[in-house]
Amino acid sequence: EAKNGGRNQLELYHEKMHHNGSRQMKLATFLRKAIEKNELFLVYHPIVDVQTNKIISVEALVRWKQDQFGLIPPSEFIPIAEESGLIIPISEWIIQKACEDLQTIHLQGYSNLRMSINISALHFSQEYFVKSINDIFQKTNANTNYIDFELTESMIMPNAHETVNKLVKLKKLGVKLLIDDFGTGYSSLSYLNRFPLDILKIDQSFINGLSSYEDDCSIVEAIITMAHRLHLKVVAEGVENKKQLNFLQNEKCDYIQGYYISKPLPIHELLSFFTSWETEIIK
Ligand code: C2E
Ligand code: MG
Ligand code: MG
Ligand code: MG
Repeated sequence: EAKNGGRNQLELYHEKMHHNGSRQMKLATFLRKAIEKNELFLVYHPIVDVQTNKIISVEALVRWKQDQFGLIPPSEFIPIAEESGLIIPISEWIIQKACEDLQTIHLQGYSNLRMSINISALHFSQEYFVKSINDIFQKTNANTNYIDFELTESMIMPNAHETVNKLVKLKKLGVKLLIDDFGTGYSSLSYLNRFPLDILKIDQSFINGLSSYEDDCSIVEAIITMAHRLHLKVVAEGVENKKQLNFLQNEKCDYIQGYYISKPLPIHELLSFFTSWETEIIK
């Protein structure tokens, strides 16, 4: 203690991190202040019903604009947030903000629009997860029947019994459950009918391959058929061109999401996008 001038190990660690830390360490430090400094914001990515061409839902995607580093992609800061535990307040902030924005969207007249929210693995694994979700729903007076939670295979697989209970409790709150990045996780499919799931989102790597790889076409076709047999709806993510859209239309995929429709948009831009799509959207 005396040798270090009274500073403890943690302070020394932070000091070291600050002086010659890697980008990752610096980001971890800055991330601690990101919420209070108002550096986080959400953008919304439209999801379209393939048969009716109506926008039925939007996926909330978090963004972080940091003073020194600029815009940092979630693929970079979400893992840092998960490792440090900061993801929990961040995840709660995201869910609350998405609920508030959904209400704004509904009040604009788009009263059937759904909101899809990505759930963090660490947040989900907490014992108080369902309570924390319920608290946010109460606080925001959320219409939970219009909310979808995006989970990944790796989040729900490790502890199947506990997970089923948690998912059943979540469903009782009124939400629908979606498996994100489907096809990239566990090869086991047995969980699909053991868990109370509603929607499968096919990973964009398979959609990318639709234009050039016959195997990817077969996989997507098989996933859609299987999902429908299990009474699950199917979203294809990462649709960037008409060729992919036509294939998915032929295969009776339910919903599509991707740059072919739009980039993810901040809420005010989303509302103008809705206006330009006006005649198509469910009102
Ligand atoms: P994800 O949930 O699978 O989100 C889809 C990602 O694919 C998004 O990137 C989206 O912008 C991108 N994408 C969608 N359509 C297309 C397309 O047509 N072409 C291309 N090239 N990309 C497309 P983003 O926003 O960078 O998010 C990356 C990942 O970060 C997400 O994957 C999710 O795992 C995580 N993430 C993002 N926002 C949140 C959040 O609010 N909470 C949590 N827990 N995780 C989040
Ligand atoms: Mg997602
Ligand atoms: Mg995905
Ligand atoms: Mg992903």
